[in-house]
This record gives sequence, structure tokens and C-alpha cells, in this order.
Amino acid sequence: MPTTAPLERQPEKRRLSFTQLNMFLRCPRQYHYRYVLGIRTPVSGAMVQSRVWHETVERNYRQKIASHADLPLEDLQAFYAERFDEALRVEKVAFESDESAGALKDEGLAIVAAHHREIAPGVQPLFVEKQFRVSLGMDFPYELVGVWDLVEQDGTVCDNKAYSKAPRQQDLDRDLQLTVYSLAYRATFGELEKGLRVDAVIKHQTPKAIQIPTRRTNRDCQWLLGLIEEVARAMDQQVFFPNPNGWHCAPRFCGFWDRCMGPTNHQQEVK
Ligand code: SF4
Repeated sequence: MPTTAPLERQPEKRRLSFTQLNMFLRCPRQYHYRYVLGIRTPVSGAMVQSRVWHETVERNYRQKIASHADLPLEDLQAFYAERFDEALRVEKVAFESDESAGALKDEGLAIVAAHHREIAPGVQPLFVEKQFRVSLGMDFPYELVGVWDLVEQDGTVCDNKAYSKAPRQQDLDRDLQLTVYSLAYRATFGELEKGLRVDAVIKHQTPKAIQIPTRRTNRDCQWLLGLIEEVARAMDQQVFFPNPNGWHCAPRFCGFWDRCMGPTNHQQEVK
């Protein structure tokens, strides 16, 4: 079973996050552009909305660890509005043709309100946006890194997410990110998490918030470890083939589209 270890004993290990793992599984060439060549692409308006909402939830929950009370909604919406405007001022944001900054900001304010009204009152945080770093074995060259959005006082691990439509239970039951959270909790604390849950806001015209529990077995965690081992082997062999088969391979969802599919294609970068 993986273990956590003092950080200073493992400086030479490479880090593998769920985001990297997921990108490699989706399209190894996309992973190559982003993590081997280090090419960054502009964030989308939806990504800014999601990130600023997470910061807003964090602001509330972090103070709630000691206060046991939520901040007023007006304070959180003012914080959201300020951070959203600031992000647009300082970052290069690539809005889609059907996106507008004003509409995304208004929708974000409504998401903050739905979460504050329907989820936050029942949550007592223990850890908020807490980093984990898990050794996957003495000889394994990678360690698993990530951040738990929220761990509740009773040991329930929660992921905050905003969706355009309600997720299906069977998809959450197989969601790899949640398995990563579960594995990291067990490796870090030496015990099972009390629960595993998605705190979701569904972006209807009037956003609606729901809590969706799921669970993982030790076998699920072992299976994930096997997957990580195989992906790490493929990364080390530097086989970065493209995968154009799926929703992810479109100009809207892949920031490397022009580089990969355009007239000056990938051949210059990919050996
Ligand atoms: S354009 Fe498609 S195949 Fe190319 S990197 Fe992006 S997702 Fe992969």
C-alpha cells in the first residue's frame, strides 16, 4: 500500500497529479504538449468561473474551521465579483463565441448563492484545499500529488463541482478523480475515509445544489495503482500518440488544436 513520507526524503521523485493522468489517458499528444514541452494555452471563460468559485468556497470554509459559521452571502458574492474581474484584467482569457464575461460572472454569482444556501450550512470543514503527496513505493519514480477540496470534520472527503447538467450516479461511482482522493486519504491517514461525496451545483437558469455520495473499495484503489503504474511506464517510453476520437478533440476543448491539426502541425515538436 502506498505511504506518505517526510517530504525532504523524496526530492528526486517526479510528481503525477490526477490532471496529468487524466490528460494522458484522454490524449497522450495533448499531455506531451502541455507537460513535456511545457506549452501553456489561454484559459477559457468557464475555467475562470470555476476557479474563482472554488476560491470563494475556500474563503468561506477556511474561516468556518474555527468560526463554525458561514460568511454572509453578500460578502462571498462581493469576493467572487472582485476576483472574477481581476482575473479578466490580468489573464489572457479565451472566450468562446457563445460565452460573454458578463453572463459568466452573473452565472457564477448564482452558483455562489446556490452553494451557500443549499450545501454550506450542513458542512463543517476540517481541511480546505489541502495538498496531499503520496509515495507509491520506494522504487516507483513518481509520487501522487493533488489537493482535496474539502475534508469534513468526520473524515468525509468532498469534491466541489459545477456541472451544466446533473451527473449520473454510475459515472461518479467510476470517477477516477474521486478514487485518487480516496486512495490519498487512506495512504495519508492509514484509515478509510468516512465518506466520499460530490457537492455539485447544477447550472440551470436558477442553479440548484445537490450532494451526491459515492464510495470506493480497497480493490478500486489497488486498481488505480495498477493504472498509474502502466501510465507511468508509457510516459517514460515517450509514446505520445494523438487520440482524435472523442469530445475532447475539438478547437473548443483542446488548446493545441492548431498546433496539432493545423497546417504547421506537430511534426516540428513531436519526434
Ligand atoms: S487536437 Fe486532438 S489529437 Fe491533437 S492534441 Fe488535441 S486532442 Fe489530441
